[in-house]
Amino acid sequence: MAAKVGVKHTELIQICIGPVPMPQEDPLRTAVLNLGLGNPEGLAIGYSLFLKRGPKGQNDILFLHECAHLVQFGESGGRLRPFIEEYLGQLLKDGYLHSKWEVEARRMGGITF
Ligand SMILES: [Zn+2]
Repeated sequence: MAAKVGVKHTELIQICIGPVPMPQEDPLRTAVLNLGLGNPEGLAIGYSLFLKRGPKGQNDILFLHECAHLVQFGESGGRLRPFIEEYLGQLLKDGYLHSKWEVEARRMGGITF
């Protein structure tokens, strides 16, 4: 199902189900908390997807949403620091709901708001 949102190497995806890890050190930890991202449902770091719950079926919205972030990671150069800086910059500029990559990931995951 990851191929539905454009993941080219689906065999590389690793899924970790459980609590989503958070940054432990500042300034990233404070930035994440200030942006209201302290209790995420999912997180994509490259091909590693952290999900609070496991994917359920071919149209699992959370899984597809995180796969969309995986695709964005690759399209933005595949380097973690620039990806995080761009992502957080978008959140600071437009807020979580209206940031470019979040809007795109919701659309790719099947949510149209
Ligand atoms: Zn997202």
